[in-house]
Amino acid sequence: MFSRRDFLIQAALGGAASLISPNTLFSATRPKKDKLGVALVGLGYYSTDLLAPALQLTKNCQLVGIVTGTPSKAETWKKKYNLADKNIYNYQNFDQIANNPDIDIVYVVLPPSMHREFVVRAAKAGKQVFCEKPMAPSVADCEAMIKACADNKVKLAIGYRCQHDPNTQAFQKFAKESTFGKVRMVTCGAGYFDARTTHWKQNKALGGGVMGDMGVYALQGARLATGEEPISVTAQFHTTRPDIYKEVEETATFQLEFPSGALAACHTSFGINMNYLQANCEKGWFKMEPFSSYTGNKGSSPLGPINFPLENQQARQLDEDVEALMKGTALIAPGEEGLRDIRVVEAIYKSVAAGGKMIKI
Ligand code: NAD
Repeated sequence: MFSRRDFLIQAALGGAASLISPNTLFSATRPKKDKLGVALVGLGYYSTDLLAPALQLTKNCQLVGIVTGTPSKAETWKKKYNLADKNIYNYQNFDQIANNPDIDIVYVVLPPSMHREFVVRAAKAGKQVFCEKPMAPSVADCEAMIKACADNKVKLAIGYRCQHDPNTQAFQKFAKESTFGKVRMVTCGAGYFDARTTHWKQNKALGGGVMGDMGVYALQGARLATGEEPISVTAQFHTTRPDIYKEVEETATFQLEFPSGALAACHTSFGINMNYLQANCEKGWFKMEPFSSYTGNKGSSPLGPINFPLENQQARQLDEDVEALMKGTALIAPGEEGLRDIRVVEAIYKSVAAGGKMIKI
């Protein structure tokens, strides 16, 4: 009798008998594949500049399809990446992807307010789902996404690329092993100057505001540096460009308290260039700067530098997540990890709405 794990491995490798729905890794009707097929949904900056190039370097998966609302992009991508016509979808006919055995994984790379709809539709189509950070604007959205994937027996991974970076992992180890005693204070800043004025990042309905983008890096920094989940938050929003940041926050500062008593002061902004993460402990410290860049994350501690070479962060993330799907092992950043951040993000908004009151999480 096959265990579920054996079954996943067999199916991913083109194994024999099958039980569950077609179009998933669990199907036996699909031919053996060396690489799983990925379709990117939303062909904006991150798909164009980072994910599609990374998918040319991956060992376990490849770009085989796209979902776009812009016909001219479909033409360009088709030529550039040699995509079959039958693997090109728009937002309306996307659900027909259920009948396409070339596509094993749907990767949602849209503005955050659209993540829920497309993750749920991908799950219902029986596809494995990857979704960019932040997972969604609300806890209710995240829970619905997790449920849809569970109901349809597919996996959900969130694109927290840094969690796959050996530099981040070395940093996290100091917290896990209390190398310098207990972590007492974390300081973290994640921001850049965004010159755009009418992008989704400035639009509330699309999930914008700095907490809908860079803010989750600052929050992740604090969570990874302590290895704990915050129990309370106090937050403040600021802007230097009120004509542009009319409906969402340009800059957020928030202070977290963790069960061990560790504290974190986090800063995030669309107007300030910063990328640092430092943990101060009872008997030492460890830090990274930059801590969430695409290349060259590096850090140090009294024990020496943290500076592992990494060829391509996104390729590593994709390959590791696909390997986990194939082997039936745990994903590094499943939907539940995305939800943990959004719980805190909701509390941050609550704190600001309450005039900067401390909110228990
Ligand atoms: P982008 O604005 O460049 O691209 C968004 C895409 O969504 C575009 O192709 C756009 O046409 C499409 N779209 C469809 N409907 C839309 C609508 N109603 N309004 C606006 N766009 C619409 O954004 P991006 O920078 O590629 O970000 C996409 C996602 O990727 C976000 O969740 C973002 O946080 C995430 N991201 C992650 C990283 C990372 O390092 N992991 C980096 C950048 C972006």
